Amino acid sequence: MLNQPVISLKGVGKRLAERLARLDIHCVQDLLFHLPLRYQDRTQSTAIGALLAEQEAVIEADILLAEALPGRRKMWLYHVSDGSGTLRLRFFHQGRKMVSQLAVGTRVRCFGAVKALGASMEMVHPEYQCLDALGLPPREQRLTPIYPATEGLGQTRLRRLIEQVLVVLAPLSADNGMLPDVLADSALPAADWPPLLTALQCVHAPLPKDHEALSRWQHGAQQRLIFEEFLAHHLSMALVRRQRQAHAAPALCAATSRQHTFLQTLPFALTTAQHRVVKEIGHDLSQPYPMQRLLQGDVGCGKTVVAVLAALQAVEAGFQVAIMAPTELLAEQHYRLMQQGLESQGLVVGWLSGSLPQKQREPLLQELVEGRIHILVGTHALIQDSVCFKQLGLVIIDEQHRFGVHQRLLLNQKGTDTVPHQLVMTATPIPRSLYMTLYADLDCSVIDELPPGRSPITTVVLPDERRMTLVERVKMACNQGSQCYWVCPLIEESEKLQCEAAEKTHLFLSGALGGLAVGLLHGRMKNREKEHIMAQFKADRLSVLVATTVIEVGVDVPNASLMVIENAERLGLAQLHQLRGRVGRGQTESSCVLMYKSPLGKVARQRLEIIRGTQDGFKIAQEDLELRGPGAVLGTRQSGEINFRVANLLRDQALIPQVAPFAQGFSRQYPEREAVLVKRWLGPQLAVAQA
Ligand code: ADP
Ligand code: MG
Repeated sequence: MLNQPVISLKGVGKRLAERLARLDIHCVQDLLFHLPLRYQDRTQSTAIGALLAEQEAVIEADILLAEALPGRRKMWLYHVSDGSGTLRLRFFHQGRKMVSQLAVGTRVRCFGAVKALGASMEMVHPEYQCLDALGLPPREQRLTPIYPATEGLGQTRLRRLIEQVLVVLAPLSADNGMLPDVLADSALPAADWPPLLTALQCVHAPLPKDHEALSRWQHGAQQRLIFEEFLAHHLSMALVRRQRQAHAAPALCAATSRQHTFLQTLPFALTTAQHRVVKEIGHDLSQPYPMQRLLQGDVGCGKTVVAVLAALQAVEAGFQVAIMAPTELLAEQHYRLMQQGLESQGLVVGWLSGSLPQKQREPLLQELVEGRIHILVGTHALIQDSVCFKQLGLVIIDEQHRFGVHQRLLLNQKGTDTVPHQLVMTATPIPRSLYMTLYADLDCSVIDELPPGRSPITTVVLPDERRMTLVERVKMACNQGSQCYWVCPLIEESEKLQCEAAEKTHLFLSGALGGLAVGLLHGRMKNREKEHIMAQFKADRLSVLVATTVIEVGVDVPNASLMVIENAERLGLAQLHQLRGRVGRGQTESSCVLMYKSPLGKVARQRLEIIRGTQDGFKIAQEDLELRGPGAVLGTRQSGEINFRVANLLRDQALIPQVAPFAQGFSRQYPEREAVLVKRWLGPQLAVAQA
């Protein structure tokens, strides 16, 4: 019964089933795991004299006076009293039945939120019951759950449906096979967590004594369900990982002569952290099953070099490498770097983007399939069907947070008879607690050190009105040989968002900066133009580069030391941190100016303060997490990958560290139970997890 579609329930038709689907409720069992957001306590009545404003309360009182107020908007008022005080009930519409029910002298029980109007109190449209010959009906014995609802599907309907399922389950014991408690024989992290069925009964119809713990999400019944959900997610990822590892990958043995040759061309030595991760990656690559590794490191820590070294290991073993970047600008930069660094070794580096003309594209694809191209760099154009390799051994994805899981998985299929190794890189620092859950299918390497000799970046927050002072400062710095980025978040003037137009700013700065060379770069320009402008800026022929956020990821011009960001209050913290990371790469002292439109709200101010206060990307991510939740930290795309029913990564993070160790023992002891759990919690998402 529990696995039947909801439409099998009494009273559920096609329309209702569609609405339930919007809440991710598809089968009967899903109703049980649709948990309340909060509860109302209707088990006790409150004396009117003791009511507080905004309180949701039950009162029991007699109607003293009824009045209908005429006017454009008719209203009905009832004055009620219980001896301790009086209260008004206000209705904006009134059916015929109500008129006869709510007669003066009737005793009523009402539930609603209390509004204070001056010295008096009222309830607007309370739910009410009247005393009939039998007296007032009994009060609720249990707390009233408030569920996540949707258009056309309200609380009452949801409550009835869920009750209907609970009633069927009630007389059965937990191990009747209908709703197996797969954790029953395991030692749970807390001894007071109830068995599954008890937990469900408790959260859907709790006793008033549990209200306080429930409202903090600390009740054992909730904690147990949250833990079970985390566990299910963890197990599903482990499953994906095992499935991947069951495939063969080419063992790319760790010969290192190409790496040595490349390292000798660099003007610097690797940092200890870079050395360490190169070794970790090298070890994975030499295994006969696919590497699945996340390389994390703050902006500017030097991930590109690590990627090149990994690529060289693959090439030396006779395999091809694909490197995918989220923007053309970044892909282009990688391409140039590899070309310059590797062509002396006789390696052929190819370039592919969506805008590559057909005439160049065809021969490129031909060379690729014949194996004459060693390393192919490009944008997401790399995942198109027409792109075939002769022997793809390694896939590298830069700034992976910009891509979805699907794009990541699609590149897996580019191998011929084996699955390629995969290295994904990100500068979006993900707090440990998050990636343990979100990326349980990935191993993780961290570069936790910046190259030596970097000077810290001074960050200032400045209101828009001080623009002219800033222009003077930019002028001075540039006249002394510095270069400056000036970032405008949108391309064109937009009324709605009131962002500065890069074009307008470009025009303005060209005039205001008295003869300094000012360039413009935005996403709508032709590739060739973009390349040209970027090359000019890199060669120090432009002093100022006005740009949109296209330069957010990856762009590397060490001589630039000043970063101006307009409308900083509109950007995410991770994005601001990324943008700021474009400067401070050389020896000169760098600064970053965050401009905002006043007035600045409290949270907005707090957020800019965080950026000003630290340059540690992990700390910024952690604080952003506390301020705005995981969605903000990971970007919508990433957080969209995982939809928790009950759990909340921020609220429930204390449970997360216990999930992995528990999962290990659980999988060993009860491997056959994994599927039950994964299906119960991830049913509809399963397809994604196993793609
Ligand atoms: P990110 O990790 O943000 O991708 P990059 O790979 O673009 O950083 O490196 C940032 C800059 O640091 C580049 O100019 C690069 O040449 C330089 N760099 C990388 N590793 C080192 C190192 N060990 N010592 C000095 N400079 C380095
Ligand atoms: Mg980078």
